[in-house]
Amino acid sequence: MTQVYNFSSGPAMLPADVLKLAQQELRDWHGLGTSVMEISHRGKAFIQVAEDAERDLRDLMHIPANYRVLFCHGGGRGQFAALPLNLLGDKTTADYVDGGYWAASAIKEAKKYLTPNVIDPKIIVDGKRALKPMRDWQLSDEAAFVHYCPNETIDGIAIDEMPDFGSDTVVAADFSSTILSSPVDVSRFGVIYAGAQKNIGPAGLTLVIVRDDLLGKASVACPSILDYTVLNDNDSMFNTPPTFAWYLAGLVFKWLKQNGGVAAIDKINQQKADLLYGTIDRSDFYRNDVATANRSRMNVPFQLADSRLDDLFLEASFAAGLHALKGHRAVGGMRASIYNAMPLAGVQALTDFMVDFERRHG
Ligand code: PMP
Repeated sequence: MTQVYNFSSGPAMLPADVLKLAQQELRDWHGLGTSVMEISHRGKAFIQVAEDAERDLRDLMHIPANYRVLFCHGGGRGQFAALPLNLLGDKTTADYVDGGYWAASAIKEAKKYLTPNVIDPKIIVDGKRALKPMRDWQLSDEAAFVHYCPNETIDGIAIDEMPDFGSDTVVAADFSSTILSSPVDVSRFGVIYAGAQKNIGPAGLTLVIVRDDLLGKASVACPSILDYTVLNDNDSMFNTPPTFAWYLAGLVFKWLKQNGGVAAIDKINQQKADLLYGTIDRSDFYRNDVATANRSRMNVPFQLADSRLDDLFLEASFAAGLHALKGHRAVGGMRASIYNAMPLAGVQALTDFMVDFERRHG
């Protein structure tokens, strides 16, 4: 069978070792004679899974003690609503940085609850798409928080700069497609959230890391299942959590720890990105139009100079075991998502294919 590398943007590939272990223990988990998805979330056995996952995540991200970790439902979009509902307090506005598709989607949802101060950082530098640095973001004095998305999964644009707006500014960030891919100073943030289906595990689980002084401020209209305080008071088990996704996320955290943690994967992610962008930049056949400083290391959109070859590229790459390279319908072209689970060999296989495809069709 051809070795398959899956470049899906999410749900995305999971580490092969994790899938093997999950398969081995699927029908008889820890000698219980049942799978982990068939036991009570309130039983001792599952509580251990939950506690281990949280501890491993705290270790991996060096999460300070004054932050709570919540394992939630509702995905990234659920958090688009949860943020204003939890953080607005008696204010009526928040700063929203519109860096791309997902940041804009967060703004659309937030408008149900507040009047956003929208900051548009998009600029063109030397013909390439870029984002203004944080010092040029005009924050409002009235804002309850500032929200941005450090990695735009569809646009392939990233903000790697760490926020430093002073201790009075609450920073909330959508890390859905970049969490655990490089070191992050959690103490710079009020809330970090991420849907699991890219760097963490299967869809259905959403992580929220929230500073504890931000609890207790939810609007009365906030649904209990989105209320950080309710979730925290109930150890993320106010309602039945997505237990299998939580268990699998725990296996991914262990895998990452065994492989040297975030610092080690960061180096590999850089190598993968360098290899892919290098291949694109060396040719006139492919192009990526994001300025170097804002290029995403997780999601690499690229276009063929002749878009009439798109279908052929997708067919031939799929046949070569390189799956899910079609760009998002909003932007077209190609996109390779190269999250933590994608080995360097997968990106090597992709770039070898691209060079060969260009040789045959360029
Ligand atoms: N934010 C980002 C950065 C995303 O990439 C996505 C999904 N691709 C979302 C939010 C939405 O996540 P969900 O589908 O889990 O609601």
